[in-house]
Amino acid sequence: MRFYSTNNPEITVTVEEALFHSMPVDKGLYMPTPLPKLGAQFFESIAGQSLAEIGFEISKALFGNEISKADLEELTHRAFPFDTPVVNLETGKSAVLELFHGPSLAFKDVGARYMAALMSYCSKRSDKEINILVATSGDTGGAVAMGFHNVPGVRVSILYPSGRVSDLQEKQLTTLGGNIQAFEVDGSFDDCQAIVKQAFIDAELNAQLSLSSANSINIFRLIPQGFYYVRAYGQVRQFGKPVVFSTPSGNFGNISAGAMVQQMGLPIAHFVAATNLNHVVPDYLTTGIYTPKASVATISNAMDVGSPSNFVRLAHLYGDDYNRFKTNVSGFFYDDDETRAGMQKIYDQFNYVACPHTAIGIMGLQDYLTESKQDSIGIALATAHPSKFKPLVEVVLNISVDVPKRLAILSDRPKQSIHIPADYEAFKESLLHTVA
Ligand SMILES: *Cc1c(COP(=O)(O)O)cnc(C)c1O
Repeated sequence: MRFYSTNNPEITVTVEEALFHSMPVDKGLYMPTPLPKLGAQFFESIAGQSLAEIGFEISKALFGNEISKADLEELTHRAFPFDTPVVNLETGKSAVLELFHGPSLAFKDVGARYMAALMSYCSKRSDKEINILVATSGDTGGAVAMGFHNVPGVRVSILYPSGRVSDLQEKQLTTLGGNIQAFEVDGSFDDCQAIVKQAFIDAELNAQLSLSSANSINIFRLIPQGFYYVRAYGQVRQFGKPVVFSTPSGNFGNISAGAMVQQMGLPIAHFVAATNLNHVVPDYLTTGIYTPKASVATISNAMDVGSPSNFVRLAHLYGDDYNRFKTNVSGFFYDDDETRAGMQKIYDQFNYVACPHTAIGIMGLQDYLTESKQDSIGIALATAHPSKFKPLVEVVLNISVDVPKRLAILSDRPKQSIHIPADYEAFKESLLHTVA
């Protein structure tokens, strides 16, 4: 397996290069090559397998030349001690794929834990301390912090927008301590992401520290996210209908992971890209013109991204061809009032408690299924557990929501963060200070 840059498919790099230096020097995004083809036989064999088992099978097809079978098996089972079940809304018609049974209660556990397992495996071979920088709009940071906590040889610095993440999200970022350091930035998620991007191209900083990213720009976050699309397909294949996935999207990593396994042969009939008021991709689908914008704050804050870093990847997967993109993906977006109303309707109709992101995914799915008039089976990705947005969900649905115990214990721990302005030099100075 090799990786090329979307800016120059001619030059390829190794697994370790793409893993530890998330971004190519030409500022494109890494893509795997060649993508193995998973045939009909493979899909027949996977019904009933867990995420870890399917992850192991696909990992062998991807990295069987670089990593031994035994190591891959150990690594995937360590990364995925939880599963990603499909839960029916209307049997044979629509379902949710619950991706929140991991430690931080959001789908980002899947990518972060697989990447952490792979990094700790590869760093044993190289023996140098790795500094991971990650910008988060909420959920990435928690998943990365928990995935890397106490992993030897790795330090993690997390940048998050002050006042724009939920209390519980903030607790996950700021209470673990040890090798995890939180930077609270006076600015938006886009500001945090810009600081991280600048750090990676800062020659002076890179000469001092071995920097690595855990953002969704790292292709190793995306690859394992493909596993649960395959797992879900295995569960609904019996209905013999075209399968549509609806993915609540912000940075567009999750949906790009789906497009990647589609390219590997997973028979996905269509994708719904469901967003909040940050709807540059739905706009692209209507107009053919892609115009990144500043992000707008919404109640589905993990999707408050105005300039999605994986748009380039998704477009690339469809050959940078607008018509092909449009044939495979439909866009829907909802404002906060519509999201609240959708959460209520989903609760009334299916007795299902959805977080605001998941609700947007389900609404997009329903609107697409109604519009397309085809007899498909639709699967909406449930990206976070409702208790991650407990105050909001409780007010909207007028019910009480329990936080699973493994997270509830964090709320008693003191917050520890370094407060900085949205300024690269300020970040650099305090980063060098903390790692020195
Ligand atoms: C990160 C996140 C999203 C958006 O996923 P992308 O891969 O950035 O498109 C959606 N919902 C939740 C709960 C998230 O944490």
